[in-house]
Amino acid sequence: MRHKNFNRRDFFRLSAAAGAGVVLTSGTRAQAMVPEAMQSDEAFPLRKLGSTELELPILSMGVMRADNPNVVRAAYNSGITHFDTAHGYQNGRNEEMLGNFFKDKPRTSFTIATKGKFEYPLKDSFEKDFTAMLDLSLKRLQMDYVDIFYTHALDSRNGTDDVSNDRIVGLLEQFIADGKVKYVGLSTHAMKPEQIDAAIAAGVYKVILLSYNFKLPKLQETNEAIERGVKAGIGFVAMKSMTGGVAGGASVNGQACLKWVWQNPNITTAIPGFDNFDKLEDCLAAAKAPTLSAEEQLYLASLDSKEMLFCQRCGKCEQECPEGLPVPEIMRAYMYAYGYRNAGLSKELLSELRLADAASICSSCKGDCRVKCTLDYNVAERIAAVTPTLGVPDFLLS
Ligand code: SF4
Ligand code: SF4
Repeated sequence: MRHKNFNRRDFFRLSAAAGAGVVLTSGTRAQAMVPEAMQSDEAFPLRKLGSTELELPILSMGVMRADNPNVVRAAYNSGITHFDTAHGYQNGRNEEMLGNFFKDKPRTSFTIATKGKFEYPLKDSFEKDFTAMLDLSLKRLQMDYVDIFYTHALDSRNGTDDVSNDRIVGLLEQFIADGKVKYVGLSTHAMKPEQIDAAIAAGVYKVILLSYNFKLPKLQETNEAIERGVKAGIGFVAMKSMTGGVAGGASVNGQACLKWVWQNPNITTAIPGFDNFDKLEDCLAAAKAPTLSAEEQLYLASLDSKEMLFCQRCGKCEQECPEGLPVPEIMRAYMYAYGYRNAGLSKELLSELRLADAASICSSCKGDCRVKCTLDYNVAERIAAVTPTLGVPDFLLS
């Protein structure tokens, strides 16, 4: 594991080893050197991840949207040590990119988390399929083991069954016993504190990756459940910290969002999904001065009146929609398309939902949507705006 006092000398040593100084291309600009702001003497605060042996900088990299290995290189050279991917991201190219980048780096200089999805209720072939999925991830990553393996995006409609099911827990224990996985975790967008309690009871989970941001409903309940998890040795990693990146039609202040998350000492690290040097630079600036200022607090409070992209998963729409559509998931796909500007990721999620017929998905309501969203989202309009991506060939999507 790299260390607290990552300094300019380390930067240049690692840069030389990694070939920095070559021309880097970014989604927003081309440049010959890693930006000055990334070459800082300042250390990141580190936090321990539950009862694991891992100690991570409060800033990690959510690699999900990144397809430029030079952004990964800049993150690594800036002192970020933890990289979060998933089996499904970019149809496997995300894991492959990390594998190619890290193949010549000391294995103890970084930690990798990946994730695997399964269908629930479980198929007869679950054990075989899920094992093959993990093996393929390891092959793409060119690694013998991953530091953290998450069961991916557990579904709120399964209650907590997909956390505690004996077959799932048994297979995860087997992955650890086989040496393919150091620590097992679960990832969830459901924002259901009871999932944390189910993970505590199951025993196998050492990490929970959860949506955690200043717009979180049931914040107190969630914080109390996190506290129970920490006492049981579980470490917490935050995602969706920037609530979809857009508020009232403008980009959110990502630094304020991250600092809000880091106020909770029980959150070990956040994994913002930066995919270019500018966004990385912004995240680094936040990590080096992580205290939320009064001005930033006021800014976050001012967003209360703004329309945002982050569905709060209250579940009201699922009860109201006569077609039983997975509206919160479709709203997440909408956030990926219109907040993250990543139509490919949006299509990937929509495809997993296996919506019967995207073209006529809401036609039975004849323009009279029964859903009265808690946040006043016009869900029918958003569904109509995002589902057409299902018909767009992958090669045309970002
Ligand atoms: S009612 Fe609105 S906020 Fe609640 S889950 Fe549905 S889309 Fe999300
Ligand atoms: S229009 Fe509204 S109520 Fe009707 S199917 Fe679509 S989301 Fe459901």
